[in-house]
Amino acid sequence: MLYSEQVFLVAGLSRSGIAASEFLISHGAKVYVYDDVDDANVRTAAEHLKEIGCINVTKEELAEKSEKCDVLVLSPGIPVDHPLPISFKRAGKRIIGEAELGALNLRCPCVAVTGTNGKTTTVSMLEAIFKAAGKKGIACGNVGRPLTSCLGELGEDGIAIAEISSFQLETLYSLRPHVAVILNVTEDHLNRHYNMENYIYLKSRLLKNAAESEFAVLNYDDPIVRGFAEKTKAKVVWFSLSERVDGAYVQDNSFCYFGEKLFSVDELSLEGEHNVANALAAIAAARLMGVGNTAIRTALKEFRGVKHRLEKVGEINGVTFIDDSKATNVDSAIKAVGSVKGESVLLLGGKDKGYSYEPLFEVLKTSGVVHAVIYGENAFRILNAALKCGYSAVTLCRPFDLAVRVAYLISEKGQNVLLSPASASFDAFANYEERGKRFCELLETFKREAQPYAKTRGEYDE
Ligand code: ADP
Repeated sequence: MLYSEQVFLVAGLSRSGIAASEFLISHGAKVYVYDDVDDANVRTAAEHLKEIGCINVTKEELAEKSEKCDVLVLSPGIPVDHPLPISFKRAGKRIIGEAELGALNLRCPCVAVTGTNGKTTTVSMLEAIFKAAGKKGIACGNVGRPLTSCLGELGEDGIAIAEISSFQLETLYSLRPHVAVILNVTEDHLNRHYNMENYIYLKSRLLKNAAESEFAVLNYDDPIVRGFAEKTKAKVVWFSLSERVDGAYVQDNSFCYFGEKLFSVDELSLEGEHNVANALAAIAAARLMGVGNTAIRTALKEFRGVKHRLEKVGEINGVTFIDDSKATNVDSAIKAVGSVKGESVLLLGGKDKGYSYEPLFEVLKTSGVVHAVIYGENAFRILNAALKCGYSAVTLCRPFDLAVRVAYLISEKGQNVLLSPASASFDAFANYEERGKRFCELLETFKREAQPYAKTRGEYDE
């Protein structure tokens, strides 16, 4: 792409929009930037982008300036059926994402990871593994660092470990990973992608450019992911918790790879079967990239997990608080409930994404969850699912702060308060990190309140 000959409109000025604009400006392009949100973060971004040479576009100017642009760089946060991309499509112009810009300019091998859940954990495991092996592997993409801002550091000798979301896959066409990992596909983002068929199709697109010389690491235990094997030219390497597959699997409580016993599953520092599955995917991808067993073992032994994913954040009066704020769909909450030891009071709720909560309550009936406290915008939808399933150990309590307090009050010594909301956070928070942070702040408040009352010196009885 000859950047200096084209005019771009970058829409959405969060992390990836800023990175795309910086990349384009540094390659001599003319860049218009636009965001229909007007908050402090966007204003700061717009100011910075103006300083480096971008031209800010207002809502009123958008139609006129769009006509001058050849390419729309769309933030993953904006759906492809938003009026802006539709106007570009109608005009026969290109629509790409920041990840596509990154893919077009990547000069090193790439391991790409997608799936409904476990992407960040797996990508982070892989980064730790490559580090232990002395290789320059950089976690990028949806995990936080946009691909375009890592290109310089990656050079030709790095390894891009790219986390790719379904939102990114809507506008990503050229990525051709040496190893493409698909972890699982369960109901999520149906408010954005409309139905499972569309969501499944988007996930499968990670494999579409693969040639026979490349690899697809696929979850044998997930029927949807297993089906992807038929559609790819890549060599399939499976991972499975239950079968001795051609690839990575567990046998006699040991991680194995194509018949070779690697090390005991107990050496994995993370808890939960789903994390064993993530580790199997990481092992397969690392082995395909030429990493030896010692580095894999060392890294996975030391890997302590990522914040807001089943993170034990503290204890008060014998009650353990677990922050799993990133459990933003039903399957991740089911995995949390299955992984946490002992009894728990579960906090559920937030922004609805269009799927059914009933599978979760079916699981809760036979789990260690003794009570569910439901809060947030979707509280009544969740309550309805609970009632339909005959699950009655629920309290509805809409504001988040109060819900956490109620969960703590209900819990008994030895139990957990588990925030694993099965919902997005955007009804009340900027993101899941803010929600997890608030959970931790409330824990600190409860700790302060639990201090014995300080003796007062007042003379009068109040
Ligand atoms: P992603 O980046 O795909 O959102 P994360 O690694 O950030 O995945 O984990 C998100 C949530 O999903 C967390 O609650 C985590 O405990 C849970 N999780 C992680 N791996 C899996 C998996 N393989 N299957 C189901 N849930 C998972």
